[in-house]
Amino acid sequence: MKKLPIHVKIMIGLVAGVIYAFISSSLGWNNFTINWIDPFGQIFIRMLKYIAVPLVLFSIISGISGLKDMSKLGRMGGKTLLFYMMTTVSAVLIGLLLVNTVKPGNMIDQDQRVKNRLQYENWVANTEGVEILDGKNYTNDPLYSNIEVEEMTEEQLALVADKQKAAEENKDGGPLKFLVDMVPQNIMLSLSNDKLMLQVIFFAIFCGITMAMLPDEKVAGLSAFVDGANAVFLKMVEIVMQAAPYFVFALLAGVIAKMADTPQEVFEIFKGLASYSVTLVVGLAFLVAVFYPGVMRIFVPKMGYKKFFKNISPAQFLAFSTSSSAATLPVTMECVEDNMGVSKNVSSFVLPIGATVNMDGTSLYQAVAVIFMAQMHMVDLSFVQQLTIVLTATLASIGSAAVPSAGLIMMIVVLQSVGLNPAWIAIIFPVDRILDMCRTVVNVTGDATVSTIVAKSEGELREV
Ligand code: ASP
Repeated sequence: MKKLPIHVKIMIGLVAGVIYAFISSSLGWNNFTINWIDPFGQIFIRMLKYIAVPLVLFSIISGISGLKDMSKLGRMGGKTLLFYMMTTVSAVLIGLLLVNTVKPGNMIDQDQRVKNRLQYENWVANTEGVEILDGKNYTNDPLYSNIEVEEMTEEQLALVADKQKAAEENKDGGPLKFLVDMVPQNIMLSLSNDKLMLQVIFFAIFCGITMAMLPDEKVAGLSAFVDGANAVFLKMVEIVMQAAPYFVFALLAGVIAKMADTPQEVFEIFKGLASYSVTLVVGLAFLVAVFYPGVMRIFVPKMGYKKFFKNISPAQFLAFSTSSSAATLPVTMECVEDNMGVSKNVSSFVLPIGATVNMDGTSLYQAVAVIFMAQMHMVDLSFVQQLTIVLTATLASIGSAAVPSAGLIMMIVVLQSVGLNPAWIAIIFPVDRILDMCRTVVNVTGDATVSTIVAKSEGELREV
């Protein structure tokens, strides 16, 4: 085991975790797994998370304070945001194209779709100010008038209310709220909340610029401290990663054990939503296997297909196991710097921003999920509504925190923007955790790709 490269070891841990989880659930060991194995997975996520915030803080300060040319920072910032925006919008468009071509929502049982439609019309009738989107009305159609429409279960209603509250908190406060939210009012509070990573980034950039403006002798002590602290946290990542294969095993075993008691139950959960899950996974796989390597080929021709995946795969496996771009960030930074050859100056600036705002997997997922749910309720969305989805899914993915299930919460905003029922998130909830794992892989791969391209264009990409 010792000689195998780390990404192979992590993959073995991952596969072993899945196999173990199925054995554990068939033999009725789930309680044992949840009590004695899952905690090690939780410990792993905690370690990665506590490293992430100080690492972002110190690496940005150290990277920027060392930059003597501030115009370079402005240029790099501009390029970073442009690339992030372009990849996110492309992801939404790919998602829309796919879901409108495959039409996974139409594959649901026809009677069920009719019931769904009537339920939607009921919801519209009870919601002030909302109109039936496509103008059709089935409620008064004699063919359907005697169909009973089921109400949501209490459990589903509670879930929706919970997520809706979280989405409202994000949305209230006008169009410039995202700018206000970026600025910390108390840096200690920002450091202690992993949803406030953008505030930490804001502070770190400002601090780095201020240090660069002061004479060297004034900040020499502080610079040495920041560089030293940065080195310590980087080393911590390296140490934790040695044990990653075992931790990943525990994490996967725990996630699956908590999902269902028997392997059949896992299958059942997926069966009803199979067309949606498969469409989404195909879209995400397209981004990872074709889109990013293709974009990379254009801007960094030397980065071949195999090399690209070999370099980035430890971060991808970790993204899959943790479902969190923030928890994966320390390892993404390590992969991009050590394997891809991106300079610290670039990676320490581009990656933390990417982990918080650039979520291509999440934006594609939101587009596919919203259209799928409209299709299964027999609601036709017009071209303008689909354009609205491009806009809101892009913004919602930027607003999603880099933690598990954040994309699901923000999807409420996308549903509301086109007048659909936000409670529909309860439909896809059962399969969301595993799909979250897949979209996080895409989010992390997107960040790594953009950081390599920005480094190349700035002459900051080493030969490796
Ligand atoms: N889990 C994702 C991430 O951290 C966000 C999401 O829920 O889509 O990148």
